[in-house]
Amino acid sequence: MKTYKLLTPGPLTTTMSVKEQMLFDHCTWDDDYKQITQWIRAELVRIANCSPETYTAVLMQGSGTFGDEAVLTSVVGDDEKVLICSNGAYGDRMVEVCRHARVPHAVYSEPYSDIPHVERIREMLDADPAITHVCMVHSETTTGLLNDIAPVGELCHERGLTFIVDAMSSFACVEMPVEDWHIDFLVSSANKGIQGVPGFSFIICRRDKLEASAGKARSLSMDLYDQWVPMERDGKWRYTSPTHVVLAFAQALRELEEEGGIPARAARYAANQRLLARRMEAMGFKAYLDHHQGPIITTFYYPQGATFSFAEMYDYIKDHGYVLYPGKLTDEETFRMGNIGEIYEEDIMNVTDALADFLAQHSA
Ligand SMILES: *Cc1c(COP(=O)(O)O)cnc(C)c1O
Repeated sequence: MKTYKLLTPGPLTTTMSVKEQMLFDHCTWDDDYKQITQWIRAELVRIANCSPETYTAVLMQGSGTFGDEAVLTSVVGDDEKVLICSNGAYGDRMVEVCRHARVPHAVYSEPYSDIPHVERIREMLDADPAITHVCMVHSETTTGLLNDIAPVGELCHERGLTFIVDAMSSFACVEMPVEDWHIDFLVSSANKGIQGVPGFSFIICRRDKLEASAGKARSLSMDLYDQWVPMERDGKWRYTSPTHVVLAFAQALRELEEEGGIPARAARYAANQRLLARRMEAMGFKAYLDHHQGPIITTFYYPQGATFSFAEMYDYIKDHGYVLYPGKLTDEETFRMGNIGEIYEEDIMNVTDALADFLAQHSA
């Protein structure tokens, strides 16, 4: 089998030592397994810069969307209303979640190249006093844009509203004082910045807000509070846990610490992104965003007058050991390159060299 590295922002390239953890079939009811779950939960709260008295963590089977859906359908009551601020496909997906589950919601949309503005959110809250929760995406993986969530957290805190953040592709990729930013529910998943494999999402929750959500859930298996109760008691997952994924995730957390924690990882990712953007621009691949570009994934236009298809470029680069990511914009011809996971400066050099060769073969 020909191997390659993923320049997709989740699933992403993991270390061999993370993958090796999955060679063992661990039983689920022993104390030692429950202790692994408890250690993971405590680590998540710690690296989120939250105090364990005020915050707790819930692990939830499924991909990241299941985590978003668990929160939205569990913590917004029938007599409450969530304002979803969207500037990308992932924000739009949360609107879809609310529609499907009939969660009362309002929508504030911005173009994918702009950010939701706190002044506008303030106006919407003034105009609609029924709003009790505000929800937004931190890193919009659709474009690579990093939203400014801290002032929105401050506003929610001022008004006693609940603040929900999809930090799927930013958690552990950028430093985030979750408690200081007044985030009440933060969702991320195993296969993004922590560099585990896909299989569960996790939610960092303010304890009082989680407890207040008891009985509100619309789903049995994705009831956030009911998932938390046995997990909090002794580390037991309510239904079958993804044991191999959990073992791999624990190893990924240890390796995050060995790298120097989130500050070191964030610095590596940011350096990757800067190098990538610089080398791509030099070849004529202009970045889609000129403001608010985040350090996780970059959307590029094709060079002027390009005559090749994404599929041709994709196949060529894959043969050279890297996997690119298609664009997710409906109105623009673009593609994306992630730079998180086991990706280093050397990889950015390799892939951009391969792209330069590809371009040379396709220029008239
Ligand atoms: C990856 C991601 C998700 C979750 O997607 P899944 O395919 O369900 O894992 C949600 N929001 C954002 C911003 C993401 O990057």
